[in-house]
Amino acid sequence: MGRLPLAIPPLLFLAAIPLQPLGARPAAEADVEARLRGHIETLAADAMEGRKPGTPGGDLAAGYIASQFAGLGLVPGGGDGGFYQPVKLVERRSGTIAADWRIAGTVVSIAPTEMALRGGDGAVRTAALPIVFGGYGVEDARAGLHPFEGVDVKGAAVLILSGQPEGVVHAPGYAARREALLKAGAAAVLRIETDEQGWPQLRDTLNEPRNELADDAPAPITGALSPAAWQRIAEAAGLSALTPADMVKRDFRARRIDGTATFSIDNVSRPYTSWNIVGRFPGSDPAAGALLYLAHWDHLGLCRPEGVPDRICNGAVDNASGVAMMLEVARGLIQSGKRPVRDIWFVATTAEEMGLLGAHALAKAPPVDAAKIAAVLNFDTVAIAPRGAPVAMLGRGQPALDAAVDAVSRRMGRRINPSDAANALAQRQDGWAFAQQGIPAAMVGGSLNMDLLQAYLGQEYHKPGDDLSQPLPLDGVAQDVELHVALGLMLADPKRYRPPPR
Ligand SMILES: [Zn+2]
Repeated sequence: MGRLPLAIPPLLFLAAIPLQPLGARPAAEADVEARLRGHIETLAADAMEGRKPGTPGGDLAAGYIASQFAGLGLVPGGGDGGFYQPVKLVERRSGTIAADWRIAGTVVSIAPTEMALRGGDGAVRTAALPIVFGGYGVEDARAGLHPFEGVDVKGAAVLILSGQPEGVVHAPGYAARREALLKAGAAAVLRIETDEQGWPQLRDTLNEPRNELADDAPAPITGALSPAAWQRIAEAAGLSALTPADMVKRDFRARRIDGTATFSIDNVSRPYTSWNIVGRFPGSDPAAGALLYLAHWDHLGLCRPEGVPDRICNGAVDNASGVAMMLEVARGLIQSGKRPVRDIWFVATTAEEMGLLGAHALAKAPPVDAAKIAAVLNFDTVAIAPRGAPVAMLGRGQPALDAAVDAVSRRMGRRINPSDAANALAQRQDGWAFAQQGIPAAMVGGSLNMDLLQAYLGQEYHKPGDDLSQPLPLDGVAQDVELHVALGLMLADPKRYRPPPR
């Protein structure tokens, strides 16, 4: 903690602070800031051990938020009369893996250490799958690349190179290429690695446990082959003369390899339960719909190996700060003395860091009919903007929401950043689970300015250093709390905000 040494005389300290013009910063904002700091100091304390779902630290964090909801007088909305909405999760990891490669009539033996294989549930045994080699697998109309044109990947094991092809400007990343193939019906997608030195680390990363919603279909088979393993397969298949330059030619087509691959994975599963914390501030006319606030409470837990001096990823900015902001917005709305017309729901979600799992569970079983949700506002990674930062938005481009945000910002004397640059991060935040269903969703505040966000993402993001020893600017958050109290009242009023029909 970067507290001031006690030896500094108080007067000297005061003299160092430039005087602000009278009334520049309302006293109420200082109170909000102090309470924000209190929430963050509790949620990001070492005692919470990084708030990983399914751990005692995670349960402590959920309990703190539920008790805050109760203290604010929110109505429990988690089902069974309490604030807790159970989210059933399962951690799966690959135990024993094996593969049988038969290429051009011979068995190519690949050791388990030369590949990564994951997917499915329990004991997975595939049939002998046809094999398709897709080069880089980059479909890009602008570059005239159509490797899968006329090639059927349904039911096949598809192998593609993991890197980015040289000279192709807009090539989608590997994950997008893999998802497209799975969508097209591939039974398995394996990436071919080219970096022999980096292979062991990559393999171990790919073999790490994954967390999924217990009710969802388990993830399909994916994985990777080491450079040496691919070399033997390519030789047997007669592909070793193919160069990277050949694979970015316009006439390059994916090709069926003469042979089959059979995969076997013994998944080890650990089911567990975590919680979304759900509360409601009742409006005067719930039939008019609902406004939904989100902030994920979870973080990465113990994120470094045993023996390292600081193993805890405390997640002070990501996202103790967002939860703190949501709690203070709830307090501000309740203490505003104004009754909203629509119901206002507050949900602290779990398992965001595992792929927005808590938000997806919430979107599948919302506390209010999804058709009645007028807007969703998410808070994530907010303690990065100073007071006076322009109001920026993730989700700009939705006229009714844009208009509401701009009107409230102007009324409060805030500058507006009209850029839609933050939309690039739309799929990396909880609001996405609702935006996907066509529900208006946004993030609003000083922290959505891309220069501030990029600076944070390049520093302590997802590291043990995202803890209470950082500067943690909260004056900007306190100002944004005031903004959201006004915005919330507007969005909860059907006369002042009408979502587009859907
Ligand atoms: Zn995060």
